[in-house]
Amino acid sequence: MKYIGAHVSTSGGAEKAPQNAESIGAKAFAMFTRNQRRWVSKPLTDKNITQFKENCKSGGYDPWHILPHDGYLINLGHPEEEALEKSRTAFLDEMQRCEQLGLRYLNLHPGSHLNKMDPDHCLERIAESINLTLEQTAGVTAVIENTAGQGTNMGHQFEHLARIIGNVRDKSRIGVCLDTCHTYSAGYDIKTAKAFENTLQKFDNIVGISYLKAMHLNDSKKTFGSRVDRHESIGKGSLGLEPFKFIMNDPHFDHIPMVLETPDQSIWEEEIRLLYSLIE
Ligand SMILES: [Zn+2]
Ligand SMILES: [Zn+2]
Repeated sequence: MKYIGAHVSTSGGAEKAPQNAESIGAKAFAMFTRNQRRWVSKPLTDKNITQFKENCKSGGYDPWHILPHDGYLINLGHPEEEALEKSRTAFLDEMQRCEQLGLRYLNLHPGSHLNKMDPDHCLERIAESINLTLEQTAGVTAVIENTAGQGTNMGHQFEHLARIIGNVRDKSRIGVCLDTCHTYSAGYDIKTAKAFENTLQKFDNIVGISYLKAMHLNDSKKTFGSRVDRHESIGKGSLGLEPFKFIMNDPHFDHIPMVLETPDQSIWEEEIRLLYSLIE
């Protein structure tokens, strides 16, 4: 069974997310649990929490198919102490919000060395940030997203993900989300079924396929290996439909949340239908 959805809006409260997902025929969804562009957000109210859980239940959304995304300001590998602390505090708050909402995952961007730190040291710092957060929370798995490798972002090589996971103490609460656009932009070919199989094999050898907990389904505006992160609607970019056909028919992608972050929200419903139509 494939669980496809999109990163839906929480405007008006977290409890709106499941309803927004339902309205586009999604079987999974992603969301922000607080304003993704601010350091401080109001705490969730009891009403937010109760209503969110109720709406998930009535929409048929299991917490394992919901993939909250962390805020854009957070850099868990920040080279400077004060900014690192700020990021760790915000990330802990996000994890606690996930706990409150009864969620199972928190999707995070690994972090950036900002040319002020050795990349290897940055990876260790990211792992330590995750360790500190996992120790203070329960029940939520940190899901690292692979990146396109734009600027000084870490996480564009499978070795980076493996390195972080290797340094995380609680291996039962760490996983990976592969973003199809980022994977391709980072230089891992997934354009044909054969190429996708090879890339999955590589992922299994370096990271371990059991760590694959979620997918972001995006086509790419940019070319292979560009290391530029520009999402495109499904089938309309440099990837085309082939990789998505592979995903929809490969059992490795069963039972995990797979969400669209494509630019044209008005066609999400159509894109979800298109993806399901690729099942042979
Ligand atoms: Zn992301
Ligand atoms: Zn993504």
